[in-house]
Amino acid sequence: MTDAPRCSRAGCRAPATSRILWRNPALHAPDRRKTWLACDKHLGFLTDFLAARSFPLEVEPLTVQA
Ligand SMILES: [Zn+2]
Repeated sequence: MTDAPRCSRAGCRAPATSRILWRNPALHAPDRRKTWLACDKHLGFLTDFLAARSFPLEVEPLTVQA
């Protein structure tokens, strides 16, 4: 199997280590969550992107099942 979770950052092929749960309050109902996956290198980039738009977000560690 080669479908390990990968970072959501465009062009990044690194394995994801965190999951970002977020929503756009203008588009999504309060119980909707979008999910992005992030590698260590891009976690800050992706959370900054969302925080700059004042989107609610949560970050949780991505646990990979072997
Ligand atoms: Zn990445």
